[in-house]
Amino acid sequence: MTERTEGEVRAVLPTDLVIRVNVTLTNDPCALCGEPTDPTGIDLYLLADKPALVCHACGFLHAPALVRLLDLASAANTFVRAEYEMSGVQADEKHS
Ligand SMILES: [Zn+2]
Repeated sequence: MTERTEGEVRAVLPTDLVIRVNVTLTNDPCALCGEPTDPTGIDLYLLADKPALVCHACGFLHAPALVRLLDLASAANTFVRAEYEMSGVQADEKHS
């Protein structure tokens, strides 16, 4: 690994970002730009000392493939929810 000095842009590798289910539904500011993040069910996190939320704009900048996956996941989620509603099934993920 080459040593890198801290520039004005924080070096973030695509592998530093992960998709996680946001169970606490926080809307903490983005760890990279400080913008408020969307408290949806599935979010991007920056793996550091402790996982920190990352907004979609920063995620797209550093790991576009992950953001596309997130978009796919939320599109599928919306689709499934609509299907459930049409057939009258309770879509809340509370059934055990
Ligand atoms: Zn950001």
